[in-house]
Amino acid sequence: MKHISILGSTGSIGTQALEIVRGHRNELIVEAISGNNNIELLLQQISEFSPKLVCVYKEENAKRLSELVSADPCIKDKPEIVSGMEGLIKVAVYPGSDIVLTAIVGMIGIRPTVEAIHAGKDIALANKETLVCAGHIIMSEAARCAVNIYPVDSEHSAIFQSLQGNPRRSLDKIILTASGGPFRGRKREELEKVTLADALKHPNWSMGQKVTIDSSTLANKGLEVIEARWLFNVRPEKIQVVIQPQSIIHSAVQYDDGAIIAQLGTPDMKLPIQYAFFYPERPFLAGDRVDFFKLGSITFEKPDTETFKALALAYEAIETGGSMPCVFNAANERAVADFVAGKISYLGIADFIEKTIRSHKMVKDPGLDEIIRIGEDIMAG
Ligand code: NAD
Ligand code: MG
Repeated sequence: MKHISILGSTGSIGTQALEIVRGHRNELIVEAISGNNNIELLLQQISEFSPKLVCVYKEENAKRLSELVSADPCIKDKPEIVSGMEGLIKVAVYPGSDIVLTAIVGMIGIRPTVEAIHAGKDIALANKETLVCAGHIIMSEAARCAVNIYPVDSEHSAIFQSLQGNPRRSLDKIILTASGGPFRGRKREELEKVTLADALKHPNWSMGQKVTIDSSTLANKGLEVIEARWLFNVRPEKIQVVIQPQSIIHSAVQYDDGAIIAQLGTPDMKLPIQYAFFYPERPFLAGDRVDFFKLGSITFEKPDTETFKALALAYEAIETGGSMPCVFNAANERAVADFVAGKISYLGIADFIEKTIRSHKMVKDPGLDEIIRIGEDIMAG
């Protein structure tokens, strides 16, 4: 039996995790959840999964949810309802939980993730922004506190799966695959008029808004290079990004003898989420299977880092190290929010990242407070 806390239960990853729980009621128990704006969905999740603790980040929404829960005769065991950063941390360290799924979006996840590690919880990590900003702290604290970090990002789960049963000392490189997003093959001048609706049309995956926009700019792949650097302790030059537009090969590793081991499957986040919950078991998961005859071919391309310069900037940030990956992430978070709000153009996202990392003076080995301050300064701009 596993007891779970979910940070971000109302999002794309959070709701798919709850679908997994639905299929494994005797093995998975949801102890604590968190959301932000979608009160109706939180109310539904409370009725269905009976968590004992619920955090609604915005205080006014937490009050509204409390009223709805009190007035609902069908909710017999009323959960404790909390709010703010303090509330997120309570969900992360909930004493009854063994594992915390970090399915919140953005670097707001840094503190709750570190607190969860300190409380001895295993982490099912979807929230890549947190690892990008504070990878040096998270990985060393996880080792110190003897907690496991199970990757949920599909590429990193594929890498993790491909590492099973092989000696780590023989790992030569990581092959990180990317779909290329909706604008694959286009040049910079063809992207000047891209709208929010265009950027949200991912060819293969249905995901939350931010990660979908990040996938279109390849900033997501840049974040994933940095995420892989920390999760698997490999040098950035040992991480090769390969465009694989059908999203069937979810990533691969190559060993010293030349063998490439990969994980393939249909694009479905439920597999990596379930693998993180049940590792090393592989229970049945309903869904489409890859049929090679129907698929016909799998193709490969080099990423165009001149058009999609966010990917090149991410390599630059991780090579520089220190506070620079956090600056890359914060600049991207800020730029995506500004693009969504109609304040900057689509190409303005990567331009803003470039301008911000060029003007930042790298801080070596920054502590947690410093990382958070640097991130918040860029967000506040
Ligand atoms: P989403 O936008 O669908 O959901 C985000 C969740 O976080 C929601 O529950 C929301 O309420 C909560 N949240 C957002 N801002 C918050 C705030 N300021 N305070 C408190 N809670 C807040 O996002 P998602 O697509 O599920 O992605 C979650 C994380 O997983 C991201 O880091 C993303 O990069 C990563 N990821 C997602 C996918 C995917 O398929 N969706 C795949 C790989 C990795
Ligand atoms: Mg991914």
